Amino acid sequence: MKEKSGNIALGGILTECNEFSINLITKENFERYEYFENNEILNLKSGVVGGMLSVLNVSNFNVSPTVFASCSPGGVIEDKCYFDIKKKILDGVKNTKQLKGVLLPLHGAAVTQSIGDLEGDLITSVREIVGNEVPIVITLDLHAHVTKQMIENSSAILAWEQYPHLDPYETGVRGSKLLREILENNIIPKMYFSKAPLLHSAINASTFGDTPFAELMKSLKNEEKNNPKILSTSLIHVDPYIDQNDMGGGAIVITNNDFETAKDISLNFTKNYWDRRHEFEPDLYSPEEAILDGLSKDKNVLLVETADACGGGAVGDSIQTLKALINFSPNEKSLVHVVDPGAVQKCIQSGIGKDVKILLGHQVDKQWGNPIETQVTINKITDGKFIYNGGIWDKTVGEMGPSVLVSVGNIQILLSSYGTYEWNCEQFLSFDLELDSYKFLVVKNPMNYKNTFSHIENIYVLDTEGPTPPTCKNIKFKKMIKYFPKQLDLEFSDIVLKYNN
Ligand SMILES: [Zn+2]
Repeated sequence: MKEKSGNIALGGILTECNEFSINLITKENFERYEYFENNEILNLKSGVVGGMLSVLNVSNFNVSPTVFASCSPGGVIEDKCYFDIKKKILDGVKNTKQLKGVLLPLHGAAVTQSIGDLEGDLITSVREIVGNEVPIVITLDLHAHVTKQMIENSSAILAWEQYPHLDPYETGVRGSKLLREILENNIIPKMYFSKAPLLHSAINASTFGDTPFAELMKSLKNEEKNNPKILSTSLIHVDPYIDQNDMGGGAIVITNNDFETAKDISLNFTKNYWDRRHEFEPDLYSPEEAILDGLSKDKNVLLVETADACGGGAVGDSIQTLKALINFSPNEKSLVHVVDPGAVQKCIQSGIGKDVKILLGHQVDKQWGNPIETQVTINKITDGKFIYNGGIWDKTVGEMGPSVLVSVGNIQILLSSYGTYEWNCEQFLSFDLELDSYKFLVVKNPMNYKNTFSHIENIYVLDTEGPTPPTCKNIKFKKMIKYFPKQLDLEFSDIVLKYNN
């Protein structure tokens, strides 16, 4: 066997934060999803790390694994949790002999209690250890807040290309391949990122179909394919639910030692994105309007309560749509998921088949509404475990904690103890529910419901209160002052930001 020519250190933290949610992320959150140290990481076959390893395992380099932690989005990350993981990653990098390169699979929108730019902090700390000669390649979710610190201290940043996120594995492959190119073929990555303060939800930002974001992504990727100077391009739609300075979206372009090309293409695409800003604002309905209109349709109806998306960091305990269903459509068969550990406990104590009066909703994150007292019938109790079918955590176990299915007349409510990232309705399906049998289905995510319900035509995006609202117009940012859609009179040349490595 050929002797290996050095080591690649690999490790990272991958979660999305929401500074408007009280849902603190601790080590326990990572342990419920993925928390791996040292050689445990080498067993990963899927996700971004699985993709990275698939390339490195057949390369001329050994992998030196440190820590990899990922979990469903939440509020901010507890400082202690971040500092413990950071120390382990940095110790792992320091202790790697014959270090040739570093691969960091990160998210790009992580915030701790005291650090507004976790990724920038981690990348800078790694750079301080390895010096300027060792390449650091980063992969990010495309919903990233890409900062000056991140760009200046890394060699290359590549973001996922698909939303819904079907391609973390492929992005891991691209990240590893680019690092190999740098090490083996003397590639010199010149990276340029420009961004504009365009804050919008994910509602009109799929990379599939004919959304404005899909068109922009396709055209950027065509440019990458047809221009031999380009090593990688990434279109960034900033996660709008953090509250940091200089948030915005735009294009990262990396060339082989050609600064001007990287700059020109990045600025051109960021301008194109900005010019289409009005197309990202969704049409909205109040829950009452949506239900009354939906009642007139003869097929099933999706009510998209995206303001309470666990996949965007919300607790998942809103009952704003549930309340409207109880008031305006008590007799139609309907289904909604509410995270409420207290209500779950009360139901479990009562037992299957029993009727019990519970206080329900807005009991974990109390900012967005008030609980209701209601009588429910307990239909089913489970341990809340399910297996993801695709996406970031494909084939891994998701844990809602102890969970129950209860009903209020014809309205069924899945009550769980924890919020979990929604991908393909695995949470509902773990209760063996026939989803097409419901007149009204409440989904609490802006996009991934399309993985399950591409056949449903009656879809209403709801204008409700919560930490992941469908428009950013009214978000109470402390740090972001000038942005679209809050201000309509901004000029691109005045507000574009430009970074390079
Ligand atoms: Zn994302």
